[in-house]
Amino acid sequence: AKHQGKGRVAAYRNGMLEAATERHKLEADLRQAMSLNQFHLAYQPVMELDKDEIVGYEALLRWEHPERGMVPPASFIPLAEETGLIGEIGRWVLEEACGEAASWPNERHVAVNVSAVQFRSPLLLSHLTASLAKSGLPARRLEVELTETALVEDGPKIASVLADIRRLGVKVAMDDFGTGYSSLAHLCEFPLDRIKIDRSFVVAAEENSRAHGVVMAVVALGRHIGVPTLAEGVETKEQLELLRNLGCEAVQGYLIGKPARLRGDDPRSREPLRA
Ligand code: C2E
Ligand code: CA
Ligand code: CA
Ligand code: CA
Repeated sequence: AKHQGKGRVAAYRNGMLEAATERHKLEADLRQAMSLNQFHLAYQPVMELDKDEIVGYEALLRWEHPERGMVPPASFIPLAEETGLIGEIGRWVLEEACGEAASWPNERHVAVNVSAVQFRSPLLLSHLTASLAKSGLPARRLEVELTETALVEDGPKIASVLADIRRLGVKVAMDDFGTGYSSLAHLCEFPLDRIKIDRSFVVAAEENSRAHGVVMAVVALGRHIGVPTLAEGVETKEQLELLRNLGCEAVQGYLIGKPARLRGDDPRSREPLRA
């Protein structure tokens, strides 16, 4: 039994070692990804419910690695944040998204995810300004999406950064609303242009009357404070109708369109493909 225990410890240690080695490899690959042109953006449509019209797109980062295949953002963004690589990657995402969106028709906006690390960087504002200037995209057509983890810590500092961003004319959305801490305190304290209701509530609202009540209340809350709501992850017609009936302003999800690459072959229509 003792022997077995030792074996288990060794196996555990080997497992840890493998995980650490793999992490090192992933980090090394991530460091090279930018110069090797392995990143691209996929764009997912946002539909406004009163007009049933596509009013913009969210840019989602994709890393295509020659051996690993498509690496999902959830498995490399945290590493990019820990290593500081997110600064360079995030800057590229901003420039790329603004550059593409500049040629979209009808005032369509582009929403860009900004991580907590980027948000805390003193360079964010100048990166926003530079991306807008370089692309010619009007500031009102750029939206930054922040999760609640970006909004913890020093409240007055955050409020002043948000005010700086909005002074440029860039819009601010709170992403994954309801999944973080002190969501309601954030709504009192911070200026916002959009509340994105997390997909988990949308999914649950169909089956569960409490979740339905929560979504109803968040939509009403947004209405009362003058901030439009967008529901994420809409996959079924039933979910769409439910959100429409609740008075949610906009939706996003596979039902409307999956994140898709731009048509590279036709320079006249630099518009995302509908999935
Ligand atoms: P997010 O900002 O909440 O983005 C929505 C995620 O849900 C995306 O996953 C999208 O592909 C997925 N999604 C959209 N509609 C549906 C649906 O109807 N059903 C389901 N099951 N999923 C749906 P993705 O692209 O894997 O991105 C995951 C997360 O990675 C994002 O969550 C965001 O937090 C982060 N991320 C993506 N791109 C960037 C980026 O450029 N910068 C930063 N900092 N984070 C990013
Ligand atoms: Ca987002
Ligand atoms: Ca989200
Ligand atoms: Ca989410």
